[in-house]
Amino acid sequence: MDESKKFLLQEKDIPTAWYNIMAEMKNKPRPFLNPATKEPMKAEDFFPLFSQEASRQEVNDKDSWIEIPDEVREMYKIWRPTPLVRARGLEKYLDTPAHIYFKNESVSPVGSHKLNSAIPQAYYCKKEGITNITTETGAGQWGAALSMAAKHFGIELAVYMVKISYNQKPYRRSIMQTYGAEVIASPSMSTKAGRKIITEHPNYQGSLGTAISEAVELAMNTPNCKYTLGSVLNHVALHQTVIGLEAEKQMEMAGEYPDVIIGCFGGGSNFSGISFPFMRHNFTGERNTRFIAAEPASCPKLTRGVFQYDFGDEAGYTPLIPMYTLGHNFAPANIHAGGLRYHGAGSVVSQLKQDKQMEAVDIPQLETFEAATIFARTEGIIPAPESSHAIASAIREAKKAKEAGESKVILFNLSGHGLIDMASYDRYLAGDLTNYEVTEDQVEENTKGLEKLI
Ligand SMILES: *Cc1c(COP(=O)(O)O)cnc(C)c1O
Repeated sequence: MDESKKFLLQEKDIPTAWYNIMAEMKNKPRPFLNPATKEPMKAEDFFPLFSQEASRQEVNDKDSWIEIPDEVREMYKIWRPTPLVRARGLEKYLDTPAHIYFKNESVSPVGSHKLNSAIPQAYYCKKEGITNITTETGAGQWGAALSMAAKHFGIELAVYMVKISYNQKPYRRSIMQTYGAEVIASPSMSTKAGRKIITEHPNYQGSLGTAISEAVELAMNTPNCKYTLGSVLNHVALHQTVIGLEAEKQMEMAGEYPDVIIGCFGGGSNFSGISFPFMRHNFTGERNTRFIAAEPASCPKLTRGVFQYDFGDEAGYTPLIPMYTLGHNFAPANIHAGGLRYHGAGSVVSQLKQDKQMEAVDIPQLETFEAATIFARTEGIIPAPESSHAIASAIREAKKAKEAGESKVILFNLSGHGLIDMASYDRYLAGDLTNYEVTEDQVEENTKGLEKLI
C-alpha cells in the first residue's frame, strides 16, 4: 500500500500558461456593463482603471490558454509548485473511507494564494510604465501579497484597509508596511467616497465595498496610477488557475482523480483556481466531478443571493457586474473570516452556478472553527479562518461517505494559514464566538433596489 503523504513537483513543472475557462464555457458570462449607458464594456473601457494586459484578459473569451510571462514564473519559483498533501491524519480521525487531499497554498511567503495574482498584476503595470497602484484589503491578505509584488517591481502602493481590520489585525498592517506599502484605514478622509460615509455614519467600521470605492477614486484621480483587485474579476480567477493545473499533475502522481473539489468562497478566486482546470474535463464529458464553493452563513451570496447586475463596490464606481449578490450595500456581520465578507461572486462563477456546473454551501462560523481545530490537531497546520470553510465542507463530505459506506476522493484548497489570525482562535477557544445568519428579509431589503437587467 502506498503510504505517500506529499506529492511534490519541481520548478520546471510550474505551468507555462493559465487556463482561461471563459473560452470553453457553453454559456459565456454576460458582459460587464457601463452603468451610465448600459453598454457592454470592452477591453479599452477598462484601460483607465487596470493595466492594459489585465483589461484584455478580463474580456478574453477566445483563448483557452494565456501564457505566463517569464518574469512572473521566475517569481512563482520562490514558493511554487506548492505541495499536494494527503490528509491521512484527518481521514483517520474521521474514520472515513474517503481519501482527502489538500493543495497547500499557505506556503507562499505571505501565507495565502493571493500572491498568484498579485505578481502578474504588478508586473503588467510595471511593464506598461505605471508608477503607482492602489488597492483595498479586508483582512489584509491581498494587501500583503500586493505589497510584496509591488516592491519587487519597484511600484508605489497605497492600500485602503477596512477600518475594523486595521485596528483588530495590526500584524497584517505591519506586514504591508514592512514591504514598504502605505496603508490607510478605510473609510478615510482622503477621498470623496470616504468623507461621505464618515460624515453620514461617524462610527462606521468600514467594508470591502467602501474600501474599493476609495481605492478606485484615488487611482482615477492620480496620474500614472492604476487600481488592482485581488478577487472577483475574471483575470484574477485566471491567474489562480496555477493551483488547479499543478494539482491535476499531482493527483495523477497519487494515482487518483477527485470526485469532489472544494474551495472556500469570498469573491471566487481560490475556488476558481483549484476548480477550473478540472472543470474542463466535465465540459468534454470525460469526468463528472462535483465542485463545491463553501461560503459563510453570514455572507451567503451564492446560496441565498440574487443573480442580477450589481456594482462591485459600495459607492457604485465600478461597472455593473452580472453576479450572485446580496446587494452592494450589504454590511456582513463581523465574522472572523474577513476575506469572505464580500457581497458578490465573480461573473464566471455566477454563470457556472446558474448552469449547475457547481454547487454552493453556506457554513456557520462555529462549525468552521471546529473544523479548523480538528485540522490543526490532525494535520498540524493552523488554517486561515477563510480556508476553514473548505475544511468544514470537506469534513461534511467525508462523513457522508462514511454513512454511505462509499470510498470517495475529496480535494480541497487550503487557501492560507491562520498564524496571523490567532486573535480569532483565542476568541473561539474562549467561547466568545457566535453564529450569524442572514434573514430572508435582509436579502430582500438589500437587493430590492437593483435594476432588473437580467
Ligand atoms: C482572500 C482570501 C480568501 C477569499 O477570497 P477568494 O477570492 O474567494 O479566494 C480565502 N482564503 C484566503 C486565505 C484569503 O486570503
